[in-house]
Amino acid sequence: MHDDCLFCKISAGRTDTEFLFETETLVVFRDINPAARIHLLIVPKKHIRSINDLADDDRSILADLIFAAKPMAGEMGVAGSGYRLFFNVERGGGQVIFHLHMHLVAR
Ligand code: AMP
Ligand code: ZN
Repeated sequence: MHDDCLFCKISAGRTDTEFLFETETLVVFRDINPAARIHLLIVPKKHIRSINDLADDDRSILADLIFAAKPMAGEMGVAGSGYRLFFNVERGGGQVIFHLHMHLVAR
């Protein structure tokens, strides 16, 4: 838990952000500035700065993100029509929150 990290605070339940889904290792909530009709963020509870900072031990966390995206897409009604899953990595890649998160975006 990094006190100065927004997504650490959110994922620890220390804000009023509403979770659509939560497990021991991650939370899912709506992006506050959605780029499309559906825009969710799938966020590990563990503070990892970016994809560049993943350790071997983090493999299961990454798998958890994907396996959370699958049912969320179903719940949002976009599994069949399609959606995008992506990570922005560091400033040049568009990352502005330096706590790992996966975007789920669908029209
Ligand atoms: P990234 O550019 O990959 O770092 O994405 C960060 C995302 O977090 C952006 O799409 C923001 O709109 C979103 N965001 C920032 N603050 C919040 C918040 N308090 N609640 C939900 N989403 C947020
Ligand atoms: Zn963090």
